[in-house]
Amino acid sequence: MPELPEVSTMVDDLRRSIIGKKICSVWSDLPGKNLPDFRDIRGATIKTVDRRGKNILVYLSKGKEDLLLLVHPRMTGHFLIGKWVIAGRKKPEPVLKNGPLSEKTNSYIHLIFTLGDGEMLGLSDARKFSKIIFGKAARVEKLNELNKLGPDALSPKLTEPAFQKIISSKNKPIKAVLMDQSAVAGIGNIYSDEILWLSKINPLRKAPVLKDEEIRSIYSAMCSILKKAVRLRGTSFSDFRDTGGRKGKYGERRLVYGLASRPCVRCGSIIAKAKVSGRTASFCPECQK
Ligand SMILES: [Zn+2]
Repeated sequence: MPELPEVSTMVDDLRRSIIGKKICSVWSDLPGKNLPDFRDIRGATIKTVDRRGKNILVYLSKGKEDLLLLVHPRMTGHFLIGKWVIAGRKKPEPVLKNGPLSEKTNSYIHLIFTLGDGEMLGLSDARKFSKIIFGKAARVEKLNELNKLGPDALSPKLTEPAFQKIISSKNKPIKAVLMDQSAVAGIGNIYSDEILWLSKINPLRKAPVLKDEEIRSIYSAMCSILKKAVRLRGTSFSDFRDTGGRKGKYGERRLVYGLASRPCVRCGSIIAKAKVSGRTASFCPECQK
């Protein structure tokens, strides 16, 4: 599932390639209930692309109207940019810079925006769980999807004292707090495991019993892990690819996520797993106290 580093990679790519372009048409094979009314998006110009937690925000303008396309990639959503060959009324066939997509990969693309310069922006989503919202910017910005989010994990506003206050106010395991988007936005299963391993904290410890210096070390691990993962363009264990179809490189350097029953790279003990909030935590029972 895309988390902050993967969404940040997509947003950086989109900023480089779609700003200033006009949306000419929309194709989709998603059921109507999963799609917003896209009538107003035709002819709109893309102004900026932003990120809040795991949400991608594409700001557009049309005449005097400010519009906002919000995409939450949920399990498997990610954008691809390329040239598409349009075959009659059938689904367009995409060709990325690296060449054509396989039939299987193409079958995962369920939403395509044709841009003014002939390029297209496609949303690949194998599981079709992405949340797609579109409308007047002022209305979309007030929706719970954005309003109920806590501060972004890499926002300069999330200072160490602010983080300390949030963590100690939540009465649940620390891993569950890190994954709670209303506490801190952007972290999911992968990076909560990585952050807690680096800070040597057991994921099952209840947040309010953590000492100040332990929360400080989680804060500094959060900043360094997320920045490193952004630099390495995310983790591609499942479907995540950048907009050119390339994999992220953090997965090869990961410390603990998905490594249960292998030796801990710090102390050599065997990595264990446990259920936290319905997700599987991987951790070292020896050096994470
Ligand atoms: Zn260890």
